[in-house]
Amino acid sequence: MSDEARPATPTPRPHLARVPAYVPGKPPAPREDLVTYKLSSNENPYPPLPGVIAAAHEAVDTMNRYPDMGNGVLYAGLAEKLGVPASHLAAGTGSVALIYQLLTAFCEPGDEVVYPWRSFEAYPIAVSTCGAVSVQVPLTADGRHDLEAMLAAITDRTRIVMVCTPNNPTGPSLTQTELDAFLARVPSHVVAVVDEAYLEFVRMDDAVDGIATYARHENVVLFRTFSKAYGLAGFRVGYAVAPEPIAAALRKVSLPFGVSSVAQVAAVASLGAEEALLERVDALVAERDRVGDALKAQGWAIPDAQGNFVWFGLGERTLELAAACEEAGIVVRPFAGEGCRVSIGEPEANDRLIEVAARFVRG
Ligand SMILES: *Cc1c(COP(=O)(O)O)cnc(C)c1O
Repeated sequence: MSDEARPATPTPRPHLARVPAYVPGKPPAPREDLVTYKLSSNENPYPPLPGVIAAAHEAVDTMNRYPDMGNGVLYAGLAEKLGVPASHLAAGTGSVALIYQLLTAFCEPGDEVVYPWRSFEAYPIAVSTCGAVSVQVPLTADGRHDLEAMLAAITDRTRIVMVCTPNNPTGPSLTQTELDAFLARVPSHVVAVVDEAYLEFVRMDDAVDGIATYARHENVVLFRTFSKAYGLAGFRVGYAVAPEPIAAALRKVSLPFGVSSVAQVAAVASLGAEEALLERVDALVAERDRVGDALKAQGWAIPDAQGNFVWFGLGERTLELAAACEEAGIVVRPFAGEGCRVSIGEPEANDRLIEVAARFVRG
C-alpha cells in the first residue's frame, strides 16, 4: 500500500459500513403498579426443567477446564434423537453462529445470499459481516415466502439460499410440498438452508420433515436451536444437520471451544427431559392458538402463526401498538413501518395483549 492510500489510524474493512445493527428485544422496565412481561425475543417463558439446572450446576464445578471441543456427548445425544450420523452435525453458540460459519465456509466477498425479507434479523448482519451480498426477496402480503421470486433471484453469484420456516417475524411455515418443489429447482451447487428455529411449535398439515428432506439432498442444511422450545436461550447452543462435507466445513470454521461446558451439559440434559419440555411446548401452542383466535375474533388479519409469536402487520401504526403494549406492561418487538412481533408468554401476559389489541382496533 502506498503512503497516500494508507489511513492514519486502523480502519475496519469497508464492508463493515454496510452491517446493520442487531436490535435486541427490549426487557421491560420495572413498574410499581403491575408485573411486567418480556414478549420481545421469542423466548420460552418457562424456567428450565429441574434436571437441566442440576446438570448445569454440576458442570460449573469444572469451569477451570476447557469444554469438549468435539461436543462429543452432545453430538451422540443428537445423533440418537434424530437418527443421523454424528458426522452430519455441527454445533455452535446458538444457530446464529452457524449462519456465520456457513457464510465463512462458502462465500467469497461479493458472493450472493438469497433470503426472504422480512425475516430473521441476524441474516443481513451476518451476510454483510462476512463480505457477502444480501439479495432480499420480499414476502407476500400474508407474510409467506415468495418461493418463485426467490428462485428467480438466484444468479451465477449465488452461493446460499435460505428459507425460514416458520418465518420469524411473520409466522407462516412452508409445507413439505412447497419445500420439495423449491429444492428441486435450487441448483445443486447452491447451499439451501432451512432455518427451523421454531420447528417444535409447528402444527399443520403437510408440515416440513427436515430430517427426511436433508437426507434426500446433497446441498440442504438444517439450522436448529436449543434457544426457543428448549428454553436455553441464555446458554447459546444451536446446531446444523447437513450432509457430511457441509457439516465438516461448518465444524472446521467454528470458534474453538465455542459451546461452553455448561451449555453442552444443559443441552444434553434437555434432550433427556424432552417429554416434559414438549408438554410445555404444547401449552405454548395452545396459548398461541387462543391468542390467534381471540385476535381474529376482534377482526385482526393475523398471518398463520406456526411459531411461538404472532405478527401484527400494522405498517405506520406499528410504534403506536408497541407503545400501547408497553403502557399495559408488556414489551413487544416493533419493526418500525412494518409490524409488531409479539412472543407468546405467560397466560397473564397473553391476556394483556388480547386486551390491548381489542382497545386498539376499537380506537
Ligand atoms: C431465534 C432464532 C434463531 C437462533 O437463535 P440462537 O439463539 O442463536 O440459536 C435462528 N433463526 C431464527 C429464525 C430465530 O428466530
